[in-house]
Amino acid sequence: MKILVLNCGSSSIKYQFFSLVDNSLIAKGIVEKIGMKGSFLKHEKQDGQKVIFEGEIMDHKIGIEYILGVLSSAKHGCISRLEEISAVGHRVVHGGELFTESKLVDEDVINALEKYTELAPLHNPPNLKGIYALRALLPSIPQVAVFDTAFHTTMPVYSYMYAIPYALYKKYGIRRYGFHGTSHRFVSMRACEILGRSCQGLKVITCHLGNGTSVCAIKDGHSVDTSMGFTPVEGLIMGTRSGDIDMGAVSYIMDKEKIGTKSASVLFNKHSGLLGISGLSSDMREIREGADKGDERCQLALKMFDYRVKKYIGSYAAAMGGLDVLIFTGGIGENSDTTRSGICEGLEFLGIDLDESINQGLRGKEAVISKKDARVKVMVVPTNEELMIAIDTQKIIEHLKN
Ligand code: ADP
Repeated sequence: MKILVLNCGSSSIKYQFFSLVDNSLIAKGIVEKIGMKGSFLKHEKQDGQKVIFEGEIMDHKIGIEYILGVLSSAKHGCISRLEEISAVGHRVVHGGELFTESKLVDEDVINALEKYTELAPLHNPPNLKGIYALRALLPSIPQVAVFDTAFHTTMPVYSYMYAIPYALYKKYGIRRYGFHGTSHRFVSMRACEILGRSCQGLKVITCHLGNGTSVCAIKDGHSVDTSMGFTPVEGLIMGTRSGDIDMGAVSYIMDKEKIGTKSASVLFNKHSGLLGISGLSSDMREIREGADKGDERCQLALKMFDYRVKKYIGSYAAAMGGLDVLIFTGGIGENSDTTRSGICEGLEFLGIDLDESINQGLRGKEAVISKKDARVKVMVVPTNEELMIAIDTQKIIEHLKN
């Protein structure tokens, strides 16, 4: 079975094409600058062969036509007929309270997603554009929606509610939803596979540290808490997002700077985090370079980043009444040994004890990085949200056939 996975953003479409006979990636690529000057498609085959097509990619439908075109092209493609695509799996950011698992796309799903665009105005509309485009281009191919929020729908009510008037929850759905769910689910499942353990009875904390960052507490395979909230700005310090901040400071800044909600949202989402503190970059590698050269604000940004993750690990261990497995993933979690050390330092009282001879220099590879006799298994597990989406899609399609 061959599955196309799409991640449609506002001006880009990332895609991966899998063969699920052996979970292998056949091809991947990205359409960028949709609706702008200089739009193009970059396509890469499994053997590393790359090709770029420039063109007037004015909307998502044309972008998807490009993708289908290259996948089925004689020269660069990997299928001879589009019917070889068994199904399309979409990354959908917000599934609200309704979608507790991945779903076959039908009218009801589309209507619900239209409703949830209010909750994710930047993300759900392009996700929907991808779904509509595929419906128009390949109406007989089933589509599956895989939600970032679904994994967190198991959070208990006392964990997802904000202490604001209850009526606002009822009226507008103001609560914590959490994001990155597909990644937290994938790496926690993979860790259990690697350890040869059932997720039942395990207390796991997953740290997804990329440009966006979040931590998740997973008990018996279910998310019981996560650091992102109503929007992805809550929680950890991120590349450009502030993470947790006193809302009193938010309104004070808005008053003093005479800015409205739109500008405030840009300030806390795009100009804060590592970029805001360092004044240099949102990219962890550049911050690390700056810190190594003695830049004090880069050094501060690193300390703050590690400290915030450490605090969440402590609080989630308390929330679950213990901890068995701690997982690092995402660009930073998978590649930065110094970040992993900085976060774990001083957590020996929780049973976290890194084996630096394994941790140092480890990049992008699955490994247990804690000492053999440590109470908590600390692991690096590279995330693969696209594969998880493809696997979910396959399961739903196979279920349809039976
Ligand atoms: P996204 O959330 O956009 O998918 P990624 O998961 O790719 O982002 O993570 C991007 C982050 O990973 C950047 O801050 C980048 O600096 C960091 N990163 C990538 N490689 C390394 C590395 N070798 N050492 C430290 N940080 C790294």
